[in-house]
Amino acid sequence: MNVRVYPYGPLASNMYLLESCSGTFLFDPSVYPDNIRDDLPSKIDAIFCTHGHFDHINAVDKWTQLFPEAQVFIHDGDRKCLSEPIYNCSSFFSDKCIYNSSVHSISECALDGIIVEETPGHSPGSICVFYKENGKSVMFTGDTLFKLGVGRSDLPGGSQIELSQSMDIFRKFPADTIVYPGHGPQSTLEFEFKFNPFFN
Ligand SMILES: [Zn+2]
Ligand SMILES: [Zn+2]
Repeated sequence: MNVRVYPYGPLASNMYLLESCSGTFLFDPSVYPDNIRDDLPSKIDAIFCTHGHFDHINAVDKWTQLFPEAQVFIHDGDRKCLSEPIYNCSSFFSDKCIYNSSVHSISECALDGIIVEETPGHSPGSICVFYKENGKSVMFTGDTLFKLGVGRSDLPGGSQIELSQSMDIFRKFPADTIVYPGHGPQSTLEFEFKFNPFFN
């Protein structure tokens, strides 16, 4: 498998492209395809939104125009982020944004090797997506888990209690899983278990 990171989204959010035996998947479509014109994939099978904040879904309409066959997945808890700037938080930071792409509930996702975990707390519909191939594991953690930190829980629909409960799900995955967060550098679960204060 191969993972590419595009850290140029609004608020420096990371977009990731995963090329794998199960398909080519985009995580958090925040960067406009035009901005990575020289690096576009030939196909995209699915687009995952780790949650519905505008800095993670900002370019979703551009991506679905370019790859209409790609299914877009979002958790039902964050579905209203597409149409409501209060919930996608764009109204706090920039112009009010709404998005018109048709999306599927993440509960309908049945892609080989993809494991989706519900991790509410940063937003009601936050998810983390795990994938393993040839003994190598990766996890796209959105704004739930960062290197040495976690996402804020004071935005609409956020919950500190839910966020701390969500931390428990990471324990069941291999320690050498590479963590690809929604902001900042990559990490591993092992490093986070040791040094991230939210696991202690
Ligand atoms: Zn967020
Ligand atoms: Zn974010």
